[in-house]
Amino acid sequence: MAVGDSGLDVSDAGRVLRRVFGYDSFRGAQQEIIDHVTAGGDALVLMPTGGGKSLCYQIPALVRDGVGVVISPLIALMQDQVDALRALGVRAGFLNSTQDPYERRQVESAFLTGELDLLYLAPERLRVESTGNLLDRGMISLFAIDEAHCVSQWGHDFRPDYLALSALHERWPAVPRIALTATATKATHAEIASRLNLADARHFVSSFDRPNIQYRIVPKNDPKRQLLELLRTEHSGDAGIVYCLSRASVEKTAEFLVQNGIEALPYHAGLDAPTRTTHQARFLREDGLVMVATIAFGMGIDKPDVRFVAHLDLPKSVEGYYQETGRAGRDGLPSTAWLAYGLADVVQQRKLIEGSEGDGAHRRRLATHLDAMLALCETVECRRRQLLAYFGQQASACGNCDTCLSPPESWDGTIAAQKLLSTVLRLDRERRQRFGAGQVIDILLGKKTPKVAQFGHDRLTVFGIGTELREAEWRGVVRQLLAQSLLGIEGDYGTLVLTHSSGEVLSRQRQVLLRREPERVTQATPKTPKPRRIAPVDLSEAAAPVFERLRAWRAAAAKEQGVPAYVIFHDATLRQIATETPATLAELSTINGVGENKLAKYGQQILDTLADGAPTT
Ligand code: ADP
Ligand code: ZN
Repeated sequence: MAVGDSGLDVSDAGRVLRRVFGYDSFRGAQQEIIDHVTAGGDALVLMPTGGGKSLCYQIPALVRDGVGVVISPLIALMQDQVDALRALGVRAGFLNSTQDPYERRQVESAFLTGELDLLYLAPERLRVESTGNLLDRGMISLFAIDEAHCVSQWGHDFRPDYLALSALHERWPAVPRIALTATATKATHAEIASRLNLADARHFVSSFDRPNIQYRIVPKNDPKRQLLELLRTEHSGDAGIVYCLSRASVEKTAEFLVQNGIEALPYHAGLDAPTRTTHQARFLREDGLVMVATIAFGMGIDKPDVRFVAHLDLPKSVEGYYQETGRAGRDGLPSTAWLAYGLADVVQQRKLIEGSEGDGAHRRRLATHLDAMLALCETVECRRRQLLAYFGQQASACGNCDTCLSPPESWDGTIAAQKLLSTVLRLDRERRQRFGAGQVIDILLGKKTPKVAQFGHDRLTVFGIGTELREAEWRGVVRQLLAQSLLGIEGDYGTLVLTHSSGEVLSRQRQVLLRREPERVTQATPKTPKPRRIAPVDLSEAAAPVFERLRAWRAAAAKEQGVPAYVIFHDATLRQIATETPATLAELSTINGVGENKLAKYGQQILDTLADGAPTT
């Protein structure tokens, strides 16, 4: 089948990969999946973000006769997706509610006359019978169901329109279907298979590891300052996402970053739609912007060069956390997932769960999610190993997470735990008054605060028995006991209570191993900003300025065409060009990400840009 107006004859997957996409080899299971779907089989694909799902349906759609129909909930991103394909010479179009009737008719007629390779369709369009009739009259090569976890009613991205997608198979039984998602737990997997009628499909489950992302979880002292430090020392000039729990903290954090010279934009559901759209478009189009957002931001954002994802608040589940952090480093280059977490997070999350709507079973499910997240935060083992284990996959220690890079010391905290638990017990028993962590720690440290005096807590036998630890260390003990369910927390004020396992510690039947708290991170006085880093650290001295020139050229080209910079070329491609400095079009064509269409369109401009800075002879 022909690709683009150039009328290329591309008949096999490997050649399409090279000529259209400019890549040398398939990744992971891509080839197997593509072969299976091209041959007409149904497939369910579970692959992490950045794993390369798009090619799994784009290449079969190009190789098979007819138009590939892609069902996607990401209406706001369809234009960009289509632009990116057109830049490769692929004939793509979309149908959604943002179009006027004229535009829609044009796309429909292109579909009917077979002048499209790929048609993106919003799921709600399928509710309209006219869409069904349209599809009947054209020739469909395959159905791709993107973000397939949207069919899961218990998931966080549920879209009712997805439930109707089970009908695709009944109406067009001969058309192969491929469903794809980056959401991986067993429960979601099973739900997708049953709701989309994919029981007979072949299931392709990839490793969910994202080796280029460095996972780090740090104790939270002064989160905004800690974030600023991270951005200044490691991610100056990089694009990234900062997640906060509340709209207010999104606003405050974005403001704080801007005041400190970092280009940042807020994004949350409280902003009006045009502002959200503008901020999202700027994030996608401009280089090096930081988006400070609630979790309302992110699904489908396929900006490949997000260099860091930072969480200033504890995520509610490991599943959500992994999806959010997965938005970093889709291009495979080194990236950071950084989370700051503290005792107050635990108190707040428990409170949210207690106050949440829904029955006891629902609350228990939320609590289980939170416990898994806490266990990840407090582990002394490899973070990645624990993350993958959560998704039912095994791995050995990764060497690229904080616990692997600087293994935390563990210490025998049995006696400390006993002191703390008996203080909680004392307060509960003698006073019938219940207190939060602050009061308990003050008592242990022997601090005669007004509140300690008011309740006569300085007369308790436990007063001052814990001076061997610093306050931060005691907070660490509380957090870790909570994470191990040896201590509980209740009510609006975060009252500490004993659990049924606390007794085992108090009666010395159980040893408690704790993770040592790192020394408090240096006092947060802002340092003078370092000069904006001109290129990612691992470029050679000679290549760095070339990369910057190429980036500037790309920014201008993207602006002129009104597309995101990565639609022109990915960072990874520009870096390879900067390093190898090809002198001819033939040499340029061997670079990863330079396909025939882009070579024809931009090749000369690239060579000129390279020549511009070369010393004149
Ligand atoms: P996903 O949809 O799974 O998150 P994408 O399809 O967006 O991932 O691919 C992630 C990135 O990897 C994209 O930048 C894409 O161009 C690139 N990519 C995909 N397959 C290959 C390949 N075989 N070789 C090189 N790069 C690839
Ligand atoms: Zn590790």
